[in-house]
Amino acid sequence: MRNFFLACLIMLTGFNSFGQLQSPEQFLGYKLGSRYTPHFNVVNYFKHVVANMPAQMKLEQYGLTNERRPLMLAYVASPENFTKLESIRVNNLRLAGLAEDKQAGDENAPAIIWLSYNVHGNETSSSESAMMMIYELANPANTKTKEWLKNVVVIIDPCINPDGRDRYVNWFNSVVGKVPNPRLQSREHMEPWPGGRSNHYNFDLNRDWAWQVQVESQQRLVKYNQWLPQIHVDYHEQSVNSPYYFAPGAEPYHEVITNWQREFQATIGKNNAKYFDQNGW
Ligand SMILES: [Zn+2]
Repeated sequence: MRNFFLACLIMLTGFNSFGQLQSPEQFLGYKLGSRYTPHFNVVNYFKHVVANMPAQMKLEQYGLTNERRPLMLAYVASPENFTKLESIRVNNLRLAGLAEDKQAGDENAPAIIWLSYNVHGNETSSSESAMMMIYELANPANTKTKEWLKNVVVIIDPCINPDGRDRYVNWFNSVVGKVPNPRLQSREHMEPWPGGRSNHYNFDLNRDWAWQVQVESQQRLVKYNQWLPQIHVDYHEQSVNSPYYFAPGAEPYHEVITNWQREFQATIGKNNAKYFDQNGW
């Protein structure tokens, strides 16, 4: 009997620690960036964080890929803003002039930030950093993100292209050795055709925002147009010897890009440069 109680106690303790908010490293069992995480475990981590933050976060499955992997969105806000997410969304559509009630919007409402990760499936650090992003938004010790959330609602798509990501990750994890090989001629750097950049039908989803011929884009744009974020961040990697993309983009701009958008690109670029300088990059 004593052993039975002891076993129960150990189980309860185990469940308790499992239920607490864990960093990506604690949850996955390896240091973030030291190996690639399959899509199902990226989703599991998002479920874990959101389950620990019911007053500030919710997770929504907005669709399925061709290979039936879930497409997910995480909504993150301050506790105060989280209770009125729907009115914040409707207000934002009013500001854009697209609300059905045609009312004027409140310009002092929180801005909407939409973070899109891993549209190119083999630019794999993307969804890894999505896990760090949601953790730091939840992490009670991070006062900076709590300050940000007073002014913004953050919507995170941890992986736009799960089929492409898993094609790459499963291949890479099957060929990499115990110690990664930095030589570009090594097998782990020779990704075979068709590679993980594209989706199941070998479409580059980063070329499909306007045309929306692929199911991932069609399902995502339904949600995107319900929110119309002020800021959309689209995460990519560059090859080792390629330059880093800095805003503002090269001219000429398309005529639909407004003056405010052109100026705001410079603001974004200078802010990125500040962080590069701080890190000595
Ligand atoms: Zn890319």
